[in-house]
Amino acid sequence: MKVFFNWPNPLFLKALLLGLCLANQALSAESITFEKYLVIPVRVHLLQSSEPKLATTLTNADITRVFAKANKVWAQAGVVLTVDSIIAEPAAKQEVFAKNIGSQRLDWLLQLRPEDSRPTNFFHVYYVKTMPPNGVYFPGGIFVKDSASLRKVEGGIDEPLPRVTSHEFGHALGLPHRQNVTNLMASGTTGFSLSDDEIKTARKTAAAYPSVTNAPTLLKRADQLFKAGKIAEAQSIYLMLAVIPLDVPETRHARKQSATSLKR
Ligand SMILES: [Zn+2]
Repeated sequence: MKVFFNWPNPLFLKALLLGLCLANQALSAESITFEKYLVIPVRVHLLQSSEPKLATTLTNADITRVFAKANKVWAQAGVVLTVDSIIAEPAAKQEVFAKNIGSQRLDWLLQLRPEDSRPTNFFHVYYVKTMPPNGVYFPGGIFVKDSASLRKVEGGIDEPLPRVTSHEFGHALGLPHRQNVTNLMASGTTGFSLSDDEIKTARKTAAAYPSVTNAPTLLKRADQLFKAGKIAEAQSIYLMLAVIPLDVPETRHARKQSATSLKR
């Protein structure tokens, strides 16, 4: 297992904030306040293999861009996906891939997850090169193929991966499909809107996960740790809050504090 980008990493933060700015331009602003934000900690796994149909070719920069855009999608619900770590690692039980790639059942994908890199305090997203659907959600992990393609709809998102990733998080947050409309939960399209009911359900489901915390609580925790001189711990929380796609005093504070502590 090779961890090549872990928080805190100044270069990754810079790239992430840049990605955030780009995503801000691409999608419209929204009106959810900092107080309402729910923070979902995510670990991204870039599954590697000598089998080119399995190995993802996504880079850290791709993940930064994908999640910045996914966070603009989820901003409408006041939910933020914070990438704690990106791990490039060989897929486990790779023989399972060749044996099952044509199968309509998908639970075999779970066998590709390396055992020692999935602590329970994260949501896990695994990227592969190919599989039958664009993405699939299991309680044990989200799988997305980096070769995903979608049917374009008017007003839709400008690339498939953030949409597929966001859609699978929709399932993780309790949302079923809602077809024939240009929304996030319609299968195979670029739409990304959520109804009021979907927002309510997603927020309720998110809040029930033990690993999910609201933003004000996290900010308070970070400030307390910072005051107590526990800079590294504070910094990791400020970095989570820094990706919330809002320009408000709280996020500016989090970005400033994480930048300050990065210099130490
Ligand atoms: Zn789906």
